[in-house]
Amino acid sequence: MRIQILSDGDKGQAICESCARVVASTYRYRNVPFSDGKGIASNILVGVCDQCETVVAIPAQSTPAIKRDRRVASQSIEAALPAPYVDALDLACFTIDPNSTAEFRKKLLLFYVHKLASGELDMAVLRAREPSFAVKTGTVKRRLSMKVSAYLADEFSRLVSDASMSRTDLLKSLVVEIKRQIVDGEDVSMLGELRTLACLG
Ligand SMILES: [Zn+2]
Repeated sequence: MRIQILSDGDKGQAICESCARVVASTYRYRNVPFSDGKGIASNILVGVCDQCETVVAIPAQSTPAIKRDRRVASQSIEAALPAPYVDALDLACFTIDPNSTAEFRKKLLLFYVHKLASGELDMAVLRAREPSFAVKTGTVKRRLSMKVSAYLADEFSRLVSDASMSRTDLLKSLVVEIKRQIVDGEDVSMLGELRTLACLG
C-alpha cells in the first residue's frame, strides 16, 4: 500500500463532529491537545474543517510525531542528590566530551539506568562498591529533573523496587559507578558509546 504524504494546504473531506455533517477540510499544521488533556502534540499536520476549524482528520504521517510528543510529555524522574555526586557526574561528562551540554548530565545518568535495567550492569556489584569519595552529612543538595519516556520510567521504578532502595540511593550508586568507570578510568567499555551519544548532543 502506498501511503500518501500530504502537505499544508491540501484539501480533503471528513465528518466534522461539531458541524455534524461531511465537510470540506484543509490540511494545516496545528498544536493539538491529546484526547486525555495531558499535553499537546505540537505542530503536526491535521485536517481542519473549513467551516469551523475543528480538527477532523489525523493523517498517518502525523502519527509518529504524536507518539513522540506523547512520550516526551509522559514522565519525569526527580531526585535531589548531594552536590558532590552531581559534581562527579559533571566531571564524567567533561571526561567523555569537554564540550558536552548540561543536558548530557541527565543522558549519562539515564544511560546507566538503562544499562542496569538491561542487565549489562549488576546491582549486586554496584551495591558492594565503596564510594570513592566521602560526603559529609548535611551537604548541599542539587535537584535533578529528567524527562523520560514512559518505558524508561517503568524500568527505573522496577529497578528501585527490585533493589529495595530509595530512588536517590539507586541514582547515587550509579554515580559512584560512573565516577569509577569514566572519571577514574577503571572501565572504558562504555566510553565509545558515550562519546557517540555526547556527539549527538
Ligand atoms: Zn466543522
